[in-house]
Amino acid sequence: MTVAGGAARTLSTTCCVAGGGPAGMMLGFLLARAGIDVVVLEKHADFLRDFRGDTIHPSTLQLMQELGLLEALLKRPHNEATKLTVQVGVTPITVADFSWLPRERAFVALMPQWDFLDFVTSEAKRYPGFHLLMQANVTGLIEEGGRIVGVHATTPDGPLDVRARLVVGCDGRKSTIRKEAGLEVEDIGAPIDVLWMRISRRPGDPGTGGRLDAGSFFAVLERGDYFQLAYVIPKGAAARIMQAGLPAFRQIVAKALPFVAPRVDELKSWDDVKLLSVAIDRLRTWYRPGLLCIGDAAHAMSPIGGVGINLAIQDAVATANLLWRPLRDGTLTEADLARVQKRREFPTRVTQRLQVAAQNGIVQPVLASSKPLEPPWVLRLISRTPLLQRIPAWLVGIGVRPEHVHTPEAAPVRSARV
Ligand SMILES: Cc1cc2nc3c(=O)[nH]c(=O)nc-3n(C[C@H](O)[C@H](O)[C@H](O)COP(=O)(O)OP(=O)(O)OC[C@H]3O[C@@H](n4cnc5c(N)ncnc54)[C@H](O)[C@@H]3O)c2cc1C
Repeated sequence: MTVAGGAARTLSTTCCVAGGGPAGMMLGFLLARAGIDVVVLEKHADFLRDFRGDTIHPSTLQLMQELGLLEALLKRPHNEATKLTVQVGVTPITVADFSWLPRERAFVALMPQWDFLDFVTSEAKRYPGFHLLMQANVTGLIEEGGRIVGVHATTPDGPLDVRARLVVGCDGRKSTIRKEAGLEVEDIGAPIDVLWMRISRRPGDPGTGGRLDAGSFFAVLERGDYFQLAYVIPKGAAARIMQAGLPAFRQIVAKALPFVAPRVDELKSWDDVKLLSVAIDRLRTWYRPGLLCIGDAAHAMSPIGGVGINLAIQDAVATANLLWRPLRDGTLTEADLARVQKRREFPTRVTQRLQVAAQNGIVQPVLASSKPLEPPWVLRLISRTPLLQRIPAWLVGIGVRPEHVHTPEAAPVRSARV
C-alpha cells in the first residue's frame, strides 16, 4: 500500500474491499494471506452489531479447519447446536441432525458475529499486506476510461481515495457499490419481516429451535445467558403490531414462548425490538471492469435457514481462489470476474429458491392459520427417520457447492498475533 497527499488523501493498493462484514473480512484475510496487498474499508467504528447472522455452519467450520484455525476459533465463547428442533403446535419435531458430520464440525456454532469478525481480523493482521480502515465510509467509485479504478471514502481524518486494480463490493444488502456501479438488481421479493429481541435465559430453558403455532412463528437462538428471539411477521405488519402497544406484544411473546413469559418485561420499549425488513434479491451481473460484488451486495438473503453469512464466506473463498493469481500477476480481466459469478451464482439461485419455497410453503401458511397447528406428514416422517434429518442438515449446514481453500499462504507472517 502506498500513500499520497492532495485534496483527498490517496492510498494505492492491489485490491480494495468495501465493507468489513463476513464476506469482506474473509476476502481481505485470504488475499493478504496469499501475499496480495488489500485495503478493507468498514464504515462502522467496530463490529458490534446485534441481531445479525450469528450462526457458523459446518461448511465454515470446515474452511477454518483447512486454514488451521478451527481450534482457536472454537476457544471463543459459543454454543453448539447438533440438532435443529422445532415445536409445531405441541409436537416437537427434529428437522435436522448434524451429528453424522465429522466430529469437529458436527454442529452449528452460535457465536456473536462480532466475535467471529474480531477473530478473522486478528488472524488477517498477521499478514503485512492486510490493512483495515474502520470508520471509512465508501461514498462513490473512481472511474477512468470505463474502468473502476478505486473508491472515494470519508474518514474521521477527512476524505480518502483508494485506488486499486480491483474494487470488491462487500457492503451488504444496501450496497453503495452496487448502486454507484449501476448494476441491475433482480428483486425476488419476500412476504415477511422479522422482529428481533433479546430476553434472558435461565437454566433448564430449552435451547435453539423454532416455535410454530396458529399465526405465530418464532425462531429461538440460545446465546449463553440470553435468547435472541426472531418473530416472523407478514411484510409490513410491524406498524400494526406497534400500534397495538408493547403490553399486547409482550403477551404474544409470552403465549408463544411460555418459558420466557415471566421475563417479557425485559422488553421495556420498542427500542428493544428491532425490525428487519427481509429482502431476497440478486444482481443480474455481479461485475464491471475493475469491480466485483459478492455476499449480500450481490445477493441479499432471507434469514430463513440462517445461511447468509455462510454464503457470503463461501463467495469470499471462491473469489480469493479465482482471483489471487491474476491480482498478483497484474493480469486481471473481466473474464476472471465472470468466473466468480459463474461459480457462485448457481448456489445462490438454489439457496434463494429454497428460501422462497420455505417462505411460501411453510411460513406464510403458518402466519395465515388461525387453528392450532398439527405437524404436516412430511415433518412427522423426517422427525421419525434420523436418516432423513441428514438432508435438511446438509442443505443448511453444508449447502450447495461448498468451497475449499485453494489460496496459498504466501505472505510472511508477523511473529505475534495482534
Ligand atoms: C437481522 C438479521 C439476522 C440474520 N440472521 C442470520 C443467521 O442467523 N445466519 C446467517 O448465516 N445469516 C443471517 N443473516 C444474514 C447475514 O447477516 C448476511 O447474509 C451476511 O452478514 C452477509 O454478509 P456480507 O459480508 O455480505 O454483508 P454484511 O454482513 O451486511 O456486511 C456488510 C458490511 O459493510 C459495511 N458497509 C456497508 N456500507 C458501507 C460503506 N458504504 N462503506 C464501508 N462499509 C460499508 C457494513 O457496516 C457491514 O459491516 C441475518 C441478517 C440479518 C439482517
